Formats: sequence, structure tokens, C-alpha cells
Amino acid sequence: MIKDILLRISHGKFWDERYSKNILFKQLISFSKCVAFLYQKRFSYYLNLIYMKKQYALLLGLLVFSLGVFAQNAGPIYDVLVKGGHVIDAKNGIDGIMDIAIKQGKIFKVDKNLNAKDAKQVVDAAGLIVAPGLIDLHAHVFAGTQPDHYLSDGLSALMPDGYTFRVGVTTVVDCGGAGWKNFATFKKNVIDVSQTRVLSFLNIVGEGMRGGNYEQDLAEMNAKFAASAAKQYSDYIVGFKLAHFNGEDWTPTDRVVEAGNLAGMPVIIDFGGSKPNLPIKDLFFKHLRPGDIYTHTYAALGGAREEIVDEKNNLKPFVLEAQKRGIIFDVGYGGASFNYSQAIPALKAGLYPNTISTDLHTGSMNTSMKDQLSVMSKFLNMGMSLVEVIKASTWKPAQVINRPLLGNLSVGAEGDIAIFNIRKGNFGFYDKTGFKLKGTEKLECEVTIKGGKVLFDLNGLANPIYVK
Ligand SMILES: [Zn+2]
Repeated sequence: MIKDILLRISHGKFWDERYSKNILFKQLISFSKCVAFLYQKRFSYYLNLIYMKKQYALLLGLLVFSLGVFAQNAGPIYDVLVKGGHVIDAKNGIDGIMDIAIKQGKIFKVDKNLNAKDAKQVVDAAGLIVAPGLIDLHAHVFAGTQPDHYLSDGLSALMPDGYTFRVGVTTVVDCGGAGWKNFATFKKNVIDVSQTRVLSFLNIVGEGMRGGNYEQDLAEMNAKFAASAAKQYSDYIVGFKLAHFNGEDWTPTDRVVEAGNLAGMPVIIDFGGSKPNLPIKDLFFKHLRPGDIYTHTYAALGGAREEIVDEKNNLKPFVLEAQKRGIIFDVGYGGASFNYSQAIPALKAGLYPNTISTDLHTGSMNTSMKDQLSVMSKFLNMGMSLVEVIKASTWKPAQVINRPLLGNLSVGAEGDIAIFNIRKGNFGFYDKTGFKLKGTEKLECEVTIKGGKVLFDLNGLANPIYVK
């Protein structure tokens, strides 16, 4: 066919008309030919000319395509290649040795034995665990310098980049720090200037977790304003938060769910406290919807709120039923919100957390919580499998916040990867009461990649270590 096209071009008048004469002359020729065609009704010749033009365009297309293929083969195909690691990708059911190629910030290929020569940068992951970038579903990153502002533009929240990549976290969800009144400040001061992907559970309270009386004011809890902010900032807001309300009143719970209904998003509840306690059974079955999140699942707060484990150390059976109903149980470890006295019996009875998160802030990071990998390690040592621990920190939170391009390694997903080793030794995993669980395994981050860029590399496993 190409031979035919070349013959047509070399013998036809088309070439001369297009390239051998000046434009005016060409136009005159075209015009007079048109007149002649119409006059002589030489439609067959006219059709033939169109046909030739089509063939010429086809030839050009083939040439451009060939040049493109040649150019692709000439240089590296992948930006980063993670080679030889044990990949755990819950979404795709991968649990074995695989290579992962990233191109233009996205997962490009997951396969065995991809060629290192095809990559600009190769990360040697032999002997290491490779997972999608971790998602911390409950963190406090609305850092600021305002006095008495707690976790909302205040001194107790932390700028994310210093606490994320070094533990494999590529996405954090700020859990209610900002409310519908100050989300714009949060976006400008934190989201827009962080390399960590920062999402938000918007507080139902206008000024978010400013602390004290601000979180008790029903007049500040506005479902319509919260939902409209969520629609305006839909790239960042993934749901709504209610926290710290102390009162025997369901109104705040129902108002945050109303915002969730208006925006079509989940809500996350830090169930505050009241005396007498509001029953959590009612919360799970009468007020929350499947897909809504109960955080601080394993907290014992001295009777301030109802616990999931009874006085005889048995998990209350309705909690498992609630999980079956679709309520999401989140760790939200925090400074005071995790007790082995709750977690051990709960896990024994089968209540594994759907999502593992830190509740990162200045009051938790230097106590027993520390960081995402420390919390994951605790669940590993309590008998949760590595696959389940990783799922609860990657694909499950991605599903909970409806972000299907996060937390997995499907082709086209975000090019976020966490690579870590499992250290062996004698470790002490204690909680806020001083109870210590001894363990022999601990997760340690080796490399973190976000959007195809190596942003943390503990031992220089990337080659070259820096890409210009
Ligand atoms: Zn929190």
C-alpha cells in the first residue's frame, strides 16, 4: 500500500501544485481547476484528488508514529523503577515479588523482571516490603501560630512534611482541624505549600478544633455551610468531622450527618463525652450511616464515653454487628485514645480496625503513639497480618474517603510508594497506661516515593540517589 501511495505522489500533479509554485499561483490553479471541474463535470477526477490527499495524510501519520516509537525507544521509558521488592497491594490481590514502574507521576506497569535499563532511576527493594503510599486517615496538620487555637491554625498541630515521608505516609487527612469558616486559611497556609497530599474532614463547627467552648456551640454547627464549603473545595474535602462535644444531645451528631447527606460524603465521629453516656449502639445503628467512621475505637477514657469492651473484658457483640453494617472503625491512636485493655480483647473477638491512623499532633507524637509505622507495628504484634495492616493503611482508607487513585498500585493510580523493612529484635510497645507489649518485629521506612519522586531514602537505595 505504501508503494502505491508513493507512486501516486511521484506521478500525480498533487506534489507540484502544493510545493513547486507560489501561493498565488496555486490558488489561481485551484480556482480555475474547480471551475473546470464543475464545468466539465469531472467529478471522478475530483474524488480521486480527495482520495490522494487522504493517502498522503495517512503516510504522514505513519511517519510521525514511527518517529514517536523511535524516540521512545531511544531513551528511558520509566521515571522510577522499584525493583525486586515484596509487593503488597490489597486492591489488586498482589502479595509477592514484583517490579513497579512509574511514569509521569502515575503507576505505569507492575510486572516481574522489568528492565532496569529502561528507567531513569532504580530503587533496589530486594528484601523489602513495597506498598502503596500510606494514608493517615486521622492527623492534625492545620499548624499555625495563633495562641489558644489548639488544632485549628494553632500550636498543637504539625506541618505535615516533617512527619510523613520519613514513615511512608504520602497522604494525610486532617481530621476536623479546619471548619467551614477557616478552610481557606488552611488551604493557603498548609495544603498549598505541602508536598504531602493533604485532604480534610471538614469540621461541622465553623472554626474547627479551636478547643474549649468553640466546639460546644450548636450555633456554629451548620450543615448547609459545611456542605457548600465541601462542594467548593471538593479536591480536598472528603467528609465531615464532629469532635469533643460534651453533652447529652444528639443534635451535633445529626447535624454532621446532615452535612454528609447534603454533600454525599462520610462523617467521622470523635464521640466526645457525656454523663450519662450517650449509647454507642444508638450511634452505630440509629444515627450513623454505613460508610461513616467511628474514630478512637480502642479508647478507654475513664467513663467519659461508652467503651466497646465491657467490664468482663468482652467485646460488646453489637460492635461487630455495626462493623458488618458498614460502620468504619478507625484507630485514631492519639495521646489518650488507645488502650490495650480495649484493643487486645477486641481483636481477640474479631474487631480488627478498618483503618489504622495516628491522630498526629504535638500531644501524641512523643508519647506512645509516635507515628504511622509505630501504630501499624503494634497491630502487627497483636496478631494482625502484615497484609491486613497494610490494607488498613492504604486501600481501605482510600475507599473510605472515595479516592480510588490512592492506596493502590493499579496502572494509572498515583505514583505513591512506601518501601520498608521489618526490623527484628526486642521491642517494647507500650500504651498511655504503661502497659507494655513485647514484640519482635517493627516496621521501618526505607524509601518513600510520591508522584514518582523519591522524597525520602534512608539508606540511599535509589540509583542515582538524586535525579536532576
Ligand atoms: Zn484527632
